[in-house]
Amino acid sequence: MTIETRTTIELKDVEAVEFGCRKCGSRIIRQLTETPRVPAVCDNCGEAWFSSAGPETGQLGDFLRRIYRYGRDESPYILRLHIKTPPATHSLYQSQGQAHG
Ligand SMILES: [Zn+2]
Repeated sequence: MTIETRTTIELKDVEAVEFGCRKCGSRIIRQLTETPRVPAVCDNCGEAWFSSAGPETGQLGDFLRRIYRYGRDESPYILRLHIKTPPATHSLYQSQGQAHG
């Protein structure tokens, strides 16, 4: 017998996104909204995260807006993202968490 464990999330379960600075390690958390705000620089160290002339912030904002809208859509299908299965100790923790939730 083969047992395959898959860990998935649905877009409707995504409440916020987290931007992490590779330079200083600080994090910025943004709630998903209809008008997501993409930080152009690190709040902590000032490192530029995007080129000011490039389209990246707008494209990322569109992407986040689509996640927000999709999560509230009544599509006839469900889109799930597969994520890497955490180590066994995490799986046990998640199972316990789901039982309470
Ligand atoms: Zn930083």
